[in-house]
Amino acid sequence: MASWVKRFKSWSISRLRDWEGCAFAAKLKHLDKLPVPGSKAMERGSAIGKMCEDYVTGELLELPEELELFGPEFLELRDAYRVEGGKTIFVEETWGFDKDWTPCAWDDWDRCWVRVKMDLGRFVASDHILNVDYKTGRFKQEMAAFDYVPQLNLYGTGALCRYPAVEKVSARLAYLDSGVTYPEGDALLFTRDQLPQMKAAWEKRVAPMLVDQKFEKNPGNGCRWCHFRKSNGGPCSY
Ligand code: SF4
Repeated sequence: MASWVKRFKSWSISRLRDWEGCAFAAKLKHLDKLPVPGSKAMERGSAIGKMCEDYVTGELLELPEELELFGPEFLELRDAYRVEGGKTIFVEETWGFDKDWTPCAWDDWDRCWVRVKMDLGRFVASDHILNVDYKTGRFKQEMAAFDYVPQLNLYGTGALCRYPAVEKVSARLAYLDSGVTYPEGDALLFTRDQLPQMKAAWEKRVAPMLVDQKFEKNPGNGCRWCHFRKSNGGPCSY
């Protein structure tokens, strides 16, 4: 009798990146659920993400110093949130979509096919959403094309699928520790006429991950930081 082989049935940008980096490590982490200890940087990132949410929604009264480089933006957001509330501004949401990109609950384990985590979204017009992802750590120009742009594209794809009346999605990254925004000028703009190509590009990119049953190791530079490496007592042979 053929043995049952685990496969990925859903994805997110971080899971996809993990698999593209090393399929074996992604399997250990996401399918076998081997624990991976968090780092100080990750804990700090989560804590500051919560500060962003709490400041915008008014839970935090004082602007934390970690957000000061974007102080005027946060102040304006908070003032707007006080008036508009969750009608036009949404913070820290997770969006779920099924295989047809139809919105569904992110925790619908049978149906949800892709999950998109959102730091901040705002209707800047009835047909235009702005998405901002607040980041800690260093901006790395060399990661822009293969890492930052796809991440912004997925926000655009998700927002256009979730809100049928929306024609335009602007998306940008904001680096809280340095005050850098990416892109530096106008946010990246995604329009409804691009949506079929955007969906198709994601489907093509994620397809190999969703059929993978071999989970091959990909030894390289990443092994130095991999929790599963042999020298760390992990199950990998590298
Ligand atoms: S040590 Fe390298 S090859 Fe092994 S799981 Fe980690 S990243 Fe993959």
